[in-house]
Amino acid sequence: MLGIDNIFEVIFLVGFVAGSVIRKIYTFRCREGKAERQHKDIVDIALISAGGLGMVLPFFFIFTPWLDFADYRLPAWLRWIGTAVFAMALLLLWRSHADLGRNFSAILQIRREHLLVTDGIYRHIRHPMYAAHLLWAIAQGLLLENWLAGWAFLVVFVPLYLIRAPKEEQMMLEQFGQEYRQYITCTGGIIPRFWK
Ligand code: SAH
Repeated sequence: MLGIDNIFEVIFLVGFVAGSVIRKIYTFRCREGKAERQHKDIVDIALISAGGLGMVLPFFFIFTPWLDFADYRLPAWLRWIGTAVFAMALLLLWRSHADLGRNFSAILQIRREHLLVTDGIYRHIRHPMYAAHLLWAIAQGLLLENWLAGWAFLVVFVPLYLIRAPKEEQMMLEQFGQEYRQYITCTGGIIPRFWK
């Protein structure tokens, strides 16, 4: 049963719902844009699917006893830090979706009428949405006291990012050439850069 002792699990569930709503709203808005070029990469798709599993394991942890064997304890202050990190992840997820707009896609692709976004949050960082997922993955581990439900998403997300980001940048370079090369020189990848 969920009670006051499980406040951090409640926080996780509320954040999960908020994140899902953000994602649904923005993917619904860009559902009609057709792809011009798609990179249907089997490793990418397998890692996205595994990442999805890492994001839903918490539900098994919270609502069943199946993962209890992998429980551990964390001090409350660390879990409050996890709460703050989770809030930052949601804020970044929202801003990156809002700024990327119709140019968003779950798999790597260039849409017809694809625009290079260099404004808003993209002014300082090329991968704010991946940064949001990284913060989410860390927050999940700090909020949930379980090795599997807590850290599975991070274990999948790190290789996903390391494999995907260079492919995405290569695709953007092929599409936008000098414009994207210039954009790289004045932005950070997953960590924002505020100086030129
Ligand atoms: N890496 C970005 C976007 C993730 S969504 C982030 O973390 O915020 C992935 C899609 O976004 C890719 O298929 C690519 O077509 C598109 N994309 C990535 N950067 C972009 C940019 N600066 N402008 C427009 N589209 C971009």
